[in-house]
Amino acid sequence: MVGEERTERSFIYLDNNATTKVAPEVVEAMLPFLTELWGNPSSVYRFGREVGKHIEAAREKVAALINATPEEVIFTSCGTESNNSAIESALRTNPDKRHVITTAVEHSANINFCKALRKQGYEVTFLPVEADGSIDLHLLEETIRPDTAIVSVMTANNETGVIFPIAEVAALCRSLGVPCHTDAVQAPGKIPIDVRATGVDFLSLSAHKLHAPKGIGALFIKRNTPYAPYVIGGHQEKGRRGGTENVANMVAFGKAAELALQNQPEENRRVRALRDQIEHHLLTTIPYSSRNGAREPRLPTTTNLSFEGVEAETLLFQLDQLGICVSSGSACTSGSVKPSHVLTAMDVPLERARSSIRLSLGIDNTQADVDYLLQHLPRLVAELRSANPQWEEHLRHKPIRLDTTTKHEDRHSVALPTHRN
Ligand code: PLP
Repeated sequence: MVGEERTERSFIYLDNNATTKVAPEVVEAMLPFLTELWGNPSSVYRFGREVGKHIEAAREKVAALINATPEEVIFTSCGTESNNSAIESALRTNPDKRHVITTAVEHSANINFCKALRKQGYEVTFLPVEADGSIDLHLLEETIRPDTAIVSVMTANNETGVIFPIAEVAALCRSLGVPCHTDAVQAPGKIPIDVRATGVDFLSLSAHKLHAPKGIGALFIKRNTPYAPYVIGGHQEKGRRGGTENVANMVAFGKAAELALQNQPEENRRVRALRDQIEHHLLTTIPYSSRNGAREPRLPTTTNLSFEGVEAETLLFQLDQLGICVSSGSACTSGSVKPSHVLTAMDVPLERARSSIRLSLGIDNTQADVDYLLQHLPRLVAELRSANPQWEEHLRHKPIRLDTTTKHEDRHSVALPTHRN
C-alpha cells in the first residue's frame, strides 16, 4: 500500500502518451453498438443501414477535429496502419519515385516501416535532428529529390513532445511537388490541428491517445490526392480500406474527437501548468537533472527529463512501487538497456539517455497527483544515486550544479561529465 497522501485512485497515471483512459462519455456512446445495434453497415436492410449512419456521424466529428471534410477521412485500425497506408500509397501511385524522406525521431510505426521499405529496394532518408529535437528545414529542402515519393514528418514527438513546423514542411513539399504526410497521433486534444492551414496531403490519427479505445485510427487524405488502398478487400470506406467496420470503435472515436474539441483550450492551460510545475520543481531541486528537447514549441502535456547517475528502468520500478506510472526513454532488450532512438538522434550522451524518463499528463491528472510525485521523486533519485558506487566518484570531478531557471534552451546547460566509469 502507498502513503496516505495518495489520491483516492489506486495509481497515478503519468503516461498519457502511451495510451489514455477511455472517457466515460465515450464508453456510453459506443456501448449500444456492442449490444443492440450490432448490424453490418454494408447490409441493405434498415437494421444495417441505420448503423452506417452512425459511422458517418462519427466521421464528421473526426473530420471536424482536424478541419477536414468527412470525405477526406477514412477509418483504419490504428495510427500504425494510417502511417503505413499513406507512405505505401504514395509509392504505389508514383511507381517511378522510389525515395522516401522521414525523420530519425519518428515513432517505430514509421521508422520500422521505412526500414522494411529499404529491404524492398526503396531508398529512405532519415532526416537528422538538432540537439533540441527540432528539424532543419534547409536540410529537408536539400534532401528532397526529383524521385522523392513522399515526405513524412511527425506533428509532435511522442517522447519529448517537441512540435515540428508542419505548415512549413508542407509548403516546402508543395513547392517541390512532393506529397507531405504527418503522423499527428500525439497531437489532437493537446494542440489544434488544421489540415487546411497546414496544407498536408496525409495525416494520421489514433483514437487511443484521445480517450477512446485502442484499435481504431484514421487517415486524412486530402481531396483529389491519388490513393492506393493498403488493406484491400470489400468496398468499405468507399473502396479505400477493406474490412467490416469496427463500428463501436468508430463511434467512440467520433465522441472522443467531439470532447477533445470542446475541452481542448481550457484543459491544455490546466495541464500545462501542472507539467510546468513538475518540470520547474524537479529541475531546480535535483542536481544534475536536465530536460531533453526544446522547451517550446512543445506539447503542453509532456516532459522528458534526465537524472544523471540513475538508471531510468530502476527509477521506473521504484515509482511503480509507489503507484506512479511513467515511462523511460530507454528499452530493456535482452538484459542490456538500449537508449531511445529519439534521444540518440538528438545526440544525448548515452549515460544521460539511459537516465531519462518521460512524464505525460492528461485530463485526469490533478494537483494531488503532482504533489505526490514531487514528494517522492527527488527522494528516490537521491537514494538511487547514493546506492550507485560510481556516483560519488563522478561528483568528485564536477561541482554541484542546479538548474535554477528551467529556462535553458540548451541541453548542455547542466554540466555533463566528460568521463563516466
Ligand atoms: N505515432 C506516434 C507518434 C505514436 O506515439 C504512436 C503510438 O504510440 C503511433 C504512431 C502508433 O499508433 P497506434 O498505437 O495506434 O498504432
